[in-house]
Amino acid sequence: MNSIRLLSVYGISIELHWSFVFLPIMFGYLYGIKGIFVILFVFSCVLLHELTHSLKARQYGVQVGRITLFPIGGVAYMGILPRRPREEFFTSIAGPLFNFALAGLLFFPLHYFLGHTLFFPGIRSWPQTFAYCFWINIILGAFNLLPAFPMDGGRILRALLAQRIGFIRATRIAVRLGHIFAILFGIIGIMQSPPNFILILIAFFVYLSASNEGLMVREREVKG
Ligand code: ZN
Repeated sequence: MNSIRLLSVYGISIELHWSFVFLPIMFGYLYGIKGIFVILFVFSCVLLHELTHSLKARQYGVQVGRITLFPIGGVAYMGILPRRPREEFFTSIAGPLFNFALAGLLFFPLHYFLGHTLFFPGIRSWPQTFAYCFWINIILGAFNLLPAFPMDGGRILRALLAQRIGFIRATRIAVRLGHIFAILFGIIGIMQSPPNFILILIAFFVYLSASNEGLMVREREVKG
């Protein structure tokens, strides 16, 4: 029990991992109330992104028990993942598409009120902070589409490959790409000054969960 249960949506329990609590405190300390606003907005968008995946998966009969928010993003815990390539494709693409749709919806009202400031997000003024609402969704959508399996883009790629070369070989290629991206994230994270610890954590998470899924698929195949 490392998580705080917030609420339940469509029977899916929404939980906050305890380590998440540090994030608003840290951002509040560094950037004041605007920092807290940005972090809460990011996590609302991440939560809605995961919820979109979950509801799409449910259409295919996949059970989703809970969504947990970690400092590096959200995870939807599903029973058996959609295995048919078509279903994995649509379940995976739904999350990023949600972020792009929300960015599209926010663009015109934000542009109306903020004018040119929309293109210069920051935390020096409130208009700049609100500009983040648009950019956060663009970044979330685009970042998740990177083919860094098991991130969304990696799953989409596996689904596309699986239709041609089968699930096992597609997974093997996706896992290898996941590892390459994880190493890249790690290097980029370390080279930034100060080091980008969130990206370094994501690197570890992507590397380990790519290996894990690769193993699971191989085991399942052995058992038949
Ligand atoms: Zn996603």
